[in-house]
Amino acid sequence: MIIVMQAGASEPQIQRVVARLTELGYEHHISYGVEHTLIGAVGAPEGEKEALAGQLSLLPGVERVVPILRPYKLVSREHATEPSVVRIGKAPFGRGQVSIIAGPCAIESEKQILEAAKAVKAAGGAVLRGGAYKPRTSPYTFQGMGEPGLQLLSAAREATGLPILTEVTDVRQLEEVTRVADSVQIGARNMQNYDLLRECGQISKPVVLKRGFAATVQEWLRAAEYIAAAGNLDIILCERGIRTFETETRFTLDLGGLAAAKLETHLPIIADPSHATGTHKLVPAMALAALAAGADGLMIEMHPHPDRALSDGPQSLTPKRLKTLMDQIRPLVAALGLELISPESG
Ligand code: PEP
Ligand code: MN
Repeated sequence: MIIVMQAGASEPQIQRVVARLTELGYEHHISYGVEHTLIGAVGAPEGEKEALAGQLSLLPGVERVVPILRPYKLVSREHATEPSVVRIGKAPFGRGQVSIIAGPCAIESEKQILEAAKAVKAAGGAVLRGGAYKPRTSPYTFQGMGEPGLQLLSAAREATGLPILTEVTDVRQLEEVTRVADSVQIGARNMQNYDLLRECGQISKPVVLKRGFAATVQEWLRAAEYIAAAGNLDIILCERGIRTFETETRFTLDLGGLAAAKLETHLPIIADPSHATGTHKLVPAMALAALAAGADGLMIEMHPHPDRALSDGPQSLTPKRLKTLMDQIRPLVAALGLELISPESG
């Protein structure tokens, strides 16, 4: 880190910083400038840097302390300069390969999830999504079918061959969910549930980490670092909209944030235009925009009968609308020089 001294900081103030660094056993280099003196501190262990920066910033004559390395390591491009490919079942995300995840917000019945799975496959989707444990804003709304829902999702995989993705809302569900699902989703509301992140770092299935709707890109990447640091680098990030002052849409799909995050991390990043917009009418526009902005895939809510959905019906595409959107996605992906992977393409 670099300690920037205030303009005109005195020599005793500079020496006080140096003495503190020496006391802690760190090397230092002083660079006297015309206005500002800079002190480079070398050798502080990763886990101590943040606290040390806070302490040093309080010493007299210190203007600010600037970290050199990113606060996340394993997920950063400093760790792996090439983009990573993460697979859910056989569906690849990243390094020019685009896969589409689709399915209902929640698993509601055998008939519903089977119908949905067949429609996802017919449209060219590569992964089937469906929530058995739903993190709902109100405790009085449908909370998901729980374990029986997982069994139905698994049956839909049997019927179609599509790999399945489902959400965990609590560490206590993790064992049962990982036994069944091909991939585990951490929802926006749990992005900073650090116990859950750490536990997901111990599983051998890919994790889709949605961005919290009040989280910065930096906080999102640090959340991913928790999973990586606990041993699992199979992480797909998902931009699903953030809270802004705008109320025309449910959230604001932050495509600038997605593009910025892609510069920082080697992990694949997908976008969820359904939760971001809250209406099926805006899903196609945002789906295409996200791919143009560099998304490595999409997560789209689709329900065989949105008018009967128990959750998120208004933002769910019908099977027909999903098919139409996929027909728009194909030429776009080709024009971008990417490859759209669907079950038929292998
Ligand atoms: C979902 O994917 O159904 C969901 C609840 O998403 P989010 O966590 O982004 O709100
Ligand atoms: Mn939903």
